Amino acid sequence: MTDLDEIYRELILDHGGRPRNRGELSGANAHANGHNPVCGDRLRLYIKLAGDMIEEIAFTGDGCQIFRASASMMTEAVKGRRVSEARRLFDAFHRLLTESPERELSAEDEALGKLLAFAGVQRFPIRVKCATLAWHTLAAALDGGRPAVSTE
Ligand code: ZN
Repeated sequence: MTDLDEIYRELILDHGGRPRNRGELSGANAHANGHNPVCGDRLRLYIKLAGDMIEEIAFTGDGCQIFRASASMMTEAVKGRRVSEARRLFDAFHRLLTESPERELSAEDEALGKLLAFAGVQRFPIRVKCATLAWHTLAAALDGGRPAVSTE
């Protein structure tokens, strides 16, 4: 295991054990629900949009450690960003988990920063949905709160 793998593992343990931005958000003006029936992960996402800026974001719900770590780190990653930037991050995160792990990382991939910690999840296909659920739910909330997303 390299030092970087160790740092990534600790990030996931830390956020999975103590998720940030958890709880309801008063004054939220965008919401969506997400559910991963394969694992049982479930969340409700609350976003306070100011124009095209994600001013505040929080979630309720629970699931496995990968889900909790991903939801926690997603909220930290997109808070204070423009909606267009959040969508680009989601695209890069999705590529990270679904495309060849041997490919060259682009500048957009490198912009994932701490989120690169999830690259190893790709080796466990059943866990990919746990890691992407919060992001799919984010996209649904930004698209106007489609009633619910399911990764099935
Ligand atoms: Zn899960």
